[in-house]
Amino acid sequence: DRLVGADADGEDTAVEAALRPKDLEEFVGQERVREQLDLVLRAARARGATADHVLLSGAPGLGKTTLSMIIAAEMGAPIRITSGPAIQHAGDLAAILSSLQEGEVLFLDEIHRMSRPAEEMLYMAMEDFRVDVIVGKGPGATAIPLELPPFTLVGATTRAGLLPPPLRDRFGFTAHMEFYAPAELQRVIHRSAGLLDVDIEPEGAAEIAGRSRGTPRIANRLLRRVRDYAQVKADGLITREIASQALGVYEVDARGLDRLDRAVLTALLKLFGGGPVGLSTLAVAVGEERETVEEVAEPFLVREGLLARTPRGRIGTPAAWAHLGLVPPQQQAG
Ligand code: ATP
Repeated sequence: DRLVGADADGEDTAVEAALRPKDLEEFVGQERVREQLDLVLRAARARGATADHVLLSGAPGLGKTTLSMIIAAEMGAPIRITSGPAIQHAGDLAAILSSLQEGEVLFLDEIHRMSRPAEEMLYMAMEDFRVDVIVGKGPGATAIPLELPPFTLVGATTRAGLLPPPLRDRFGFTAHMEFYAPAELQRVIHRSAGLLDVDIEPEGAAEIAGRSRGTPRIANRLLRRVRDYAQVKADGLITREIASQALGVYEVDARGLDRLDRAVLTALLKLFGGGPVGLSTLAVAVGEERETVEEVAEPFLVREGLLARTPRGRIGTPAAWAHLGLVPPQQQAG
């Protein structure tokens, strides 16, 4: 597992529960989403109704699970958590839906990965709070209608565009979660440090924030690694200097690039003069699979404006030369 990977590893799962903000007030950043959601939930509460279905889209680790738990807490409702890949058959979904309590929040992570028949069952459940349970097979099969209590579906997906329009249209409210600004991550780190009983200076939190790729999950993970370093190599207090040294040891650079990211960028600039170079050639040069370079390293490099994918191949941008402290060939000649 990568230290700067956005997906949860085992340790994250264990610690995250303790670090999750419990209400909208505590939830850092995402101002627009928070404001809109606050209105939706307040209005539902005032009407004594169940909140509309909510779709959350955004990259891993930005707080979709956290927000779904907050929705349940703000509505004073229980929450059931499941995911698209866990629902293989429509029957799996029927079992979950028919056991929901009135007003319960159903969090469906990776909703775009649900099977087709389950998806169709969900349409009806979302709209009419009803499902047809099919009993028997072939010509003798009958559909038994089943009434459901009103519930709130919170669906999460990495991209809303992955959902079929009929499903997307059945959500009353859609929120797109953005990557966090460094100042927001600094607040996340400060808050987590308090909960973990770690001493940290504002500059130390800022240093970690700048390397966290806009993602609270990564910020919390880097904080834990820096805490280890501060305990072993210093008196436990996280200063800018300690954070910078610690993350140097873990090979996470000032911009949040790790060893793989830097290897790809270095090969692109040093071996191929900044490109354009084909993906396969670049992958061989760093001794990795094509897919690893394309799916693991490139998305962040592209997002950071360090690498561009063009029809002729990969290109290192001026920012990439500057970041690695190298001089592009044209400038050397001049
Ligand atoms: P995935 O899709 O991979 O499950 P996610 O988007 O559901 O990720 P969460 O599990 O909700 O992400 O959040 C990951 C961690 O980041 C949690 O420990 C959570 O406490 C923290 N976190 C996320 N968003 C915020 C926030 N806005 N303020 C404070 N902490 C946050």
